[in-house]
Order: sequence, then C-alpha cells, then structure tokens
Amino acid sequence: MATREDVLSELGLLPRWRLRASLRADAAAPVDRLARIAALTWSAFAADVDACEACELCRTRNKSVPGVGDQAAELLFVGEAPGAEEDARGEPFVGQAGRLLDNMLAALGLARDRNVYIANVLKCRPPNNRTPEPREVDACRPYLERQIALLSPKLIVALGRSAASLLLDTDATIASLRGRVHRYRGVPLIVTYHPAYLLRNLPDKSKAWEDLLLARATLAQFAAL
Ligand code: URA
Repeated sequence: MATREDVLSELGLLPRWRLRASLRADAAAPVDRLARIAALTWSAFAADVDACEACELCRTRNKSVPGVGDQAAELLFVGEAPGAEEDARGEPFVGQAGRLLDNMLAALGLARDRNVYIANVLKCRPPNNRTPEPREVDACRPYLERQIALLSPKLIVALGRSAASLLLDTDATIASLRGRVHRYRGVPLIVTYHPAYLLRNLPDKSKAWEDLLLARATLAQFAAL
C-alpha cells in the first residue's frame, strides 16, 4: 500500500518543509503572543524582546535593541533598525547616525534620557543593515505598538521611511510627508529624514532642522492642552 510519503512524492509535494522548533513557538500561537506583548509592563519589556524568536533576525543578532530613554517622555523618536554598533551595545542610535541625532536633540535642549524616548521599527539588526523585510516589520510591530501604548507620547517623530510607512501606513516619500502634522491613533506625528540619510545628504540637514522646530512647536501646543 502506498505510504503518505509516496502520495506526497507523487504529487510533487516533497520535501516537506517544517518550521524549526524555535520559530514555531511564536508562530504557532500568534494570538497568545499578541496578547502577551500587549500586556507587557516596562519592566518585562526588554526581557521579552530579548527572548523573541518570531523572525530569523534572532539568529544573527548579538543583542536585541528594545529602546532607550525616559519612560515618561512626551516625545518619541522612531528609527528603522539597529546597526552594527547598536547590535553590539543593545542601545538604539549609538553609532554615527546616533551622534547626529544626539546633536539635534541637544540643539533643541533635549537629550535621550530627558523627556525623550527612542525606539526602532525593528528590535534586531538586519544582516548588513539591509532594509527590513515586511515579515520582519510585521513580527516586530506589536513591540513598537506596546511601547507607544506604555509611553502614551504627546508627539511622535518618525525618522525615515520605515518608521513613516509603518506608523502612517503609506508608501509616500519623506519629502512629501514632512512639513505637516500627521496622526498615529490620535497622537500627533511628524516625519523627517533619517539621520543616516542626512549624513549622506548634508543639504537636507536644514530641512530636518525645520522639522524638529515644527516638532517642538507642536509639542508645546499639544502639551499645553
Ligand atoms: N539607525 C536606526 O534606524 N536605528 C538605530 O538604532 C541606528 C541606526
């Protein structure tokens, strides 16, 4: 009698691919995972991210990079994904782009631990700093959503295309999105260029500065309400 394997082979369905056990754990119970992440406290957040195996980036990361800053901040900056230095240290924006971001914050009288929180769309580094894959963004999205819910910021600044497209659900360019106030679930959101882009396109720094001034004015307006 033909075995199950014979039948599958005849139908051209072999070999059968199976998810590796560690990836299966989160994939098998997506509702449980979402419910768990949606209930995380700040104190449990980083450990949960560190244990995450929902996408392949867990295999290549050195450290997960949950986020940094004042957990009572009014202002949230969202970047794309950790790079090599962030992956080594477990903290967002600590490389060259991060130094530019720190300088821009300082020029506004802000700092990463003073009324500012910094997070990324992805909590683990994509190999060779490649652009995040949609499935990685989908797997990581609940963590950013939880951070936003815990923080309840008065203003979000999306740094670059990955953050803007996730938070605004759009493919529009930064050039077309910047200069005005958007909303993410009711929270005012401003879009600007990613600091790594600014390092390669110095003339656009003045536009990013205008965006940050708009962010400061918007924050003052909404914080006063
Ligand atoms: N670029 C990002 O988007 N995030 C980081 O943390 C570092 C570089």
